[in-house]
Amino acid sequence: MDFINGKREYDLVERLSFTRVCGTEQERKAAEIIMEELKSFGLEPWLEKFDITTGNVDASSLEILEPYSAVYDAGGYRFGPSTAEGGEEYELEYVEKLDGASLRRAKGKFALLNEARVGAEELEKLVNAGVAGFMTMSGNVDDEREKTDLDHRRYSETMRSKGTLPAITVRMPDAFEMVRRGAKKIRVTLRTSEQKDVSQNVVAEIKGTDLADEIIVLGAHYDSTWLSKGAWDNAAGVALICELARWFKENPPRRTLRFVMFGSEEIGLCGSKAYVEAHKEDVEKIVLMINADVGGSVLGQNGISVTAAKSFFDWMEYLLDECGFSAMVRHGVMSSDSTSFADAGIPAISFSRGGTHGMNVMHTHGDNMSLIGEEALASTARIALEAARRLVNAEHFPVPREFPDNIKEELDKYAKR
Ligand SMILES: [Zn+2]
Repeated sequence: MDFINGKREYDLVERLSFTRVCGTEQERKAAEIIMEELKSFGLEPWLEKFDITTGNVDASSLEILEPYSAVYDAGGYRFGPSTAEGGEEYELEYVEKLDGASLRRAKGKFALLNEARVGAEELEKLVNAGVAGFMTMSGNVDDEREKTDLDHRRYSETMRSKGTLPAITVRMPDAFEMVRRGAKKIRVTLRTSEQKDVSQNVVAEIKGTDLADEIIVLGAHYDSTWLSKGAWDNAAGVALICELARWFKENPPRRTLRFVMFGSEEIGLCGSKAYVEAHKEDVEKIVLMINADVGGSVLGQNGISVTAAKSFFDWMEYLLDECGFSAMVRHGVMSSDSTSFADAGIPAISFSRGGTHGMNVMHTHGDNMSLIGEEALASTARIALEAARRLVNAEHFPVPREFPDNIKEELDKYAKR
């Protein structure tokens, strides 16, 4: 009989389906719910706390002063600089492309960029060109203002090493109107601040029977972004890992299993980074990290990212075919907690269920229970359980501790964003 229970997964996702931003009371409440769930089938979980720095945007607005008057919603970049308290006036320049000609015209002005997001490379160009600030565009050109969220954006640490400029994000239809009506002079108000908070990982262990010195970490992040209820991203991943934990509780594993539900993934993989940092003495013993991030979407496709040797990627593809599972396997790096382990030299594999085209609701209010289905949750969990139980109990462990060049390059590139 099928062990995986989609209904049980769905119920847990539903219990976790509320906004759970890192460092908040809601995140702590979610951690408690996960602890209770793990205890309900006999595990003895504990919390591992870590410090985080939260970036706030206390005020952000955009006003068009010439040649027409308008006020648009503006989202500020967290961890970026503030303007003067009452705002600052700038000339606006539409920078279609970050090339020499466009950037020279933008010197000293506030640049409206076609980009949806800016990374370290783009930021460096803007700083070197001497622009005064920049805005990026969020959403689609036909979005209805009342119905769409303004994405939250932030400066990454790598970005900050290139310099900082006042930065905001605006809705695509507003950007469209600014360009069409030739907005020339603007006032941007942006007040940002930082605060120290505490976040936590939920951890539980099942000791291995005869290969207890080899550890496999199974993890999923449970925090959400500001706007979403995070059912898809990533209460679903938590539910998947809980199904696996339940199975291994009933079927003692040969290798030691650590179940880690990470806090603070959404602000830069902080929970998994903190875990690796706090368990340096275990890094050599951790032979694999199995991650689950994004899942349960009724319409969608199971996906697997193998951040490890090519032979393990081949093993995974073969397994899918052998078992009659449908999933898209990628040999690469996933933007998730698996990367923190790979950065420490630990091979990793990530299970997910992404949406189809037309499901651009990641990190928005559209990520809620209405997307989620029991069978969709179960379909990814079945694949993960089949792979996990073979790996956990393998006589010969099929994952060498080495990364091929393409993976090393992708990890480097990811770290520099
Ligand atoms: Zn996620």
